[in-house]
Amino acid sequence: MTLRSPDLRPQDEVMMYLSTLGTVISPRQVHGVDIVIDRDDIASRTFGDGVILTSEGFIGTIQVADCYPVLLSGSSPAPWRLLLHSGFKGTVDNIVLAGWRRLLKTTDVDVELSRAWIGPGIGSCCYRRKSNDPWTDKAMRLLERNFWRRDGDSVWFDMASAIRSQIEGLGIDPNNIAVHGECTLCNSSRYLSYRSGDKESRMVFFSSIDATFDAYL
Ligand SMILES: [Zn+2]
Repeated sequence: MTLRSPDLRPQDEVMMYLSTLGTVISPRQVHGVDIVIDRDDIASRTFGDGVILTSEGFIGTIQVADCYPVLLSGSSPAPWRLLLHSGFKGTVDNIVLAGWRRLLKTTDVDVELSRAWIGPGIGSCCYRRKSNDPWTDKAMRLLERNFWRRDGDSVWFDMASAIRSQIEGLGIDPNNIAVHGECTLCNSSRYLSYRSGDKESRMVFFSSIDATFDAYL
């Protein structure tokens, strides 16, 4: 579902809609690895790039435009959701692992019955960074060699594959990992894409425990 209004940014309109359905947890994303938990005091919008849900009545949200939305979920021994904003920095810093560790401190998790979904984001076809950049250097040090390739002054990154590898590293069955696979920049007529010019507008990924709704707007 896409909501568009001449007066509101898409994400603001989506938030207004979601707030009619439950208590929305919408962290201020800073390309870090901190996680917000529904049990915490969430009266104010705290900083974070992930949301853990273990209680009904909450809707976790992550905003993206080229960065990858990631959902880990399970219902054993009790329902839980882990929503992550895994952009370039989040992937280099392995927010998947940071979120998972926080999750394990928060609730019991049956790894064998856990599932993962990697949403649409900027693909290896389009994601190029300058080689003379500290974060590019860091990424080449921390990400496995098969997730990037150098081409002159540029380095190309395959973020979705790197994220998938990180999720597999948690012990989640590869058969339980779904990858959306579409590039947001190649398909910017359908997705919001920062690199195609959507500097302020974001897509909203949301999930909830009580929900029969897990969706991507
Ligand atoms: Zn592309």
